[in-house]
Amino acid sequence: MSSVGGKMTCVMKKGSSEARKIAAFRRRQRCQMQAFCTKCWSLISTQDVVCPLCGADPGNDTRSFEQKLVAALEHPFPSTRARICWLLGQHGGSWSIPHLVRMLDDVDMFVRMAAIRALGEVGDESVVPALQRASKDDSLLLRIVAAGALEQVSARVFSHGKTRSKQQHGS
Ligand SMILES: [Zn+2]
Repeated sequence: MSSVGGKMTCVMKKGSSEARKIAAFRRRQRCQMQAFCTKCWSLISTQDVVCPLCGADPGNDTRSFEQKLVAALEHPFPSTRARICWLLGQHGGSWSIPHLVRMLDDVDMFVRMAAIRALGEVGDESVVPALQRASKDDSLLLRIVAAGALEQVSARVFSHGKTRSKQQHGS
């Protein structure tokens, strides 16, 4: 403590070991990153060449990323369907809107909630009637989420102005 130079060295050493720890953590995270088999939608490791459950070879799947996502909306696990809705909200474009609207009728409440949130992210004025319907859901939570999504969509449509909305109608 009394030696400034010594303290400095100590701090730097500590810092570099922290940096090593962070780098190791990041490497571990990459190793543990998981993927989905695009045939049976089981969780698989990114290192798996073929799916250990159904034997499908992901390299042989020629469908586009978008097609795979849309197919995954039929997954038997609601948690997976909800996750795909979230992904569509984050990365999907206007092409994902009809698929998300369809998910508003999902039997699982959390899938419906994920679809509503995603529509709040990517929806245009065409989703307003569907979100208005969702805002009358039996679940209070869903009604609140739907109201938020409606506000989000309205704010976006309004800020984009009338020139953009013409374009959105065309697609
Ligand atoms: Zn599989």
